[in-house]
Order: sequence, then structure tokens, then C-alpha cells
Amino acid sequence: MKKQRWIIFTLFIALLFTFTGCSQSPETKESPKEKPQTQKVSSASASGKKDLPNIKILATGGTIAGADKSKTSTTEYKAGVVGIESLIEAVPEMKDIANVSGEQVVNVGSTNIDNKILLKLAKRINKLLASDDVDGVVVTHGTDTLEETAYFLNLTVKSDKPVVVVGSMRPSTAISADGPSNLYNAVKVAGTPEAKGKGALVVLNDRIASARYVSKTNTTTTDTFKSEEMGYIGTIADDIYFNNVMTRKHTKDTDFSVSDLDQLPQVDIVYGYQNEGSYLFDAAVKAGAKGIVYAGTGNGSLSDASEKGAVSAVKKGVTVVRSSRTGNGVVTPNQEYAKKDLLASNSLNPQKARILLMLALTKTNDSQKIQEYFNEY
Ligand code: ASP
Repeated sequence: MKKQRWIIFTLFIALLFTFTGCSQSPETKESPKEKPQTQKVSSASASGKKDLPNIKILATGGTIAGADKSKTSTTEYKAGVVGIESLIEAVPEMKDIANVSGEQVVNVGSTNIDNKILLKLAKRINKLLASDDVDGVVVTHGTDTLEETAYFLNLTVKSDKPVVVVGSMRPSTAISADGPSNLYNAVKVAGTPEAKGKGALVVLNDRIASARYVSKTNTTTTDTFKSEEMGYIGTIADDIYFNNVMTRKHTKDTDFSVSDLDQLPQVDIVYGYQNEGSYLFDAAVKAGAKGIVYAGTGNGSLSDASEKGAVSAVKKGVTVVRSSRTGNGVVTPNQEYAKKDLLASNSLNPQKARILLMLALTKTNDSQKIQEYFNEY
């Protein structure tokens, strides 16, 4: 009799777990089974609510998908371990503003995002946005190289529909994790008709920035993404407020397409500093670089040694673009440098100049045309 009662009790508990399915806090529901491979996650509502936008979330990893045993640790976590399913479950409120579904593209820290992943992501987004069933895309991403991916998408997505890249500075397990609110805001922006035609957007910390101008400016704080020179494109304060207009060419209006690409040309970055030699240019050329971005001092200035290396690279058919290590301002097309075919990055920082130069080199080796791209994009 006692045994029977025990069996009934056990069955009851098992059923309770099956039906609630959420006995664990969603934020800490890290599943070791969630492998970094393309994986589809079912829609938030099976049929989807007709009056809500359909938003696809593509997950790539990063701190937003990071976890640690300690709730107070914000730096000693492992990035890219929580899967898309858990990310969506952690923010059930998204279901009130969109029909959300997800896919795991990769699950890595963003320092490991490479050209192959960029191409895979851009192709997948183009395919999704070509469908009438998708109104916008959100990409979850590590913050370290987020601006590079966002700018790549800004130049290669062939749609007006919103593409929003989002990350977080605190792992999902931290007290006051910023991931859930950033993700909620990103979905809200992606589902807003006013976000159409603005190019790839970056949403963090209640701000909407253009992928063209935004940069990570602080190693650890939640207000790290700044658009210092140009300002943000908008703000989220429950409602969405767009303030700025994008004047640079993007998405449908660019010359670039990833549809026929299965690789990108190698472009390396050489950093400018006192007492440098010309050997870093030589090393890049030897390693197969087709382009070199120089993170120069000030207004993209080169020392005698770096100029020697840069000019020698140009003579070997490598395109060299001067950018600046200062983090702000325009690198002007200095006539002396221009005569030597050393191009100017305009206001692109070195890491974004690398993205544009890779795409430019898929179209042409003509330095004048490439300079035009830098002036336009
Ligand atoms: N290292 C992490 C990454 O870029 C940092 C972050 O996501 O904030 O994946």
C-alpha cells in the first residue's frame, strides 16, 4: 500500500514537471546540449498572431549567450554557451510584440567570428528577408567585433527590412544582466516599420545606432557602444524615437553582393606606433594580403618606415588604406599620400575599413574606384 502511494506520488511529480516545463529560471537554463550548429527553434506562438510582425532571431554567441556559476561575476564567464532556445525563453515578453522564432548560426565569442561566418550570416539573412513571412531579423552577437559584423551586413543585406544586431555586456547569469532588455528592444525595433530602409542597426543600452558609425568604446561598461561623431540614430524609451537620417549608401544601394561569394580576400590591419618598422607590411604581403589597412596615428599619418612598407606593398599590387587609431574624425585624402596610391578611409575606423576593403576587392583592384567606395560608404 505504502509502495503504491509512493508510485502515485512519483508519477504526479513527473507530470507536474512535464506540464510546467519551466521549473528552472529561464535565464540560468543553460543547456550543454545546445551545440553551435544551425538549429531551428519553433515559433513563439505556433500559428503566429496575424497583427504582430514576424521576427527571426539568428544567434551567433557572445556574452549575451554567456554564463557563469557566479551571479556577481561579470568578467570571468564563458561566452557563447547558452543557446537560442534559452535566449528566447528568457524574454517571454517578446511574444507580446512579435512572432519570434530563432536559429542558431554559430555559438562563439565574437573574436572567433571569421569571414566564413560573415558570409553564411549575410546569405541566410538575405534568404530570410526575401520571404514574405519574415518582417525583420535580429542577430545576437558578441560585442567585441559586433561593429564589424553589423557593418558587413549594412553593406551586403539586399533588403529594406530591418536588420538589428544586438549583444550584451553582462552574461545571462549576472545580476542585472543587460541581455534580456537589449534583446527585447532589438525585437521591438526590428518589428517597427520606421526601422525600414535605415541600414543595419545596432541596439544596446536603450540606444539605436547605425552600423556605419557605432563602435565599442569601453572594455566592460554597459554604455560601451557609442556613435560619438555622428550621434545615435534613435532612442528606446518604451516607445521608439528615431532622430537621425542615414546619408551613407547601404543595403540595397551598395555595389556589393555575397550571393556568389564563398570567400573574401585577405585584408590585414597594421597598427601605427613610434619606432615601428616596415616589416609588418612585408609580413602581411608575404602572408597573402590583398589589402592592408593602416591604423595610423592622427590623420592617418605614416612614419618614414611605415611609408616605405606601404609603398612597397602597393608596388606589389596590394591596396593600402590609411585609417586612424584615434577612434574619431575623418582621415583626409592627403595629396602626397594619394600620389603614392595610399588611399584614405574617410571616417571608417580600421576594423570597419577592413570590412569595406574586403568587399571592394571583390569588385575591383582599381585604386580610384576603391577610394570612391570609401567616400560613398
Ligand atoms: N568576448 C565577448 C564576445 O565578443 C564579449 C561580449 O560579447 O561582450 O563574444
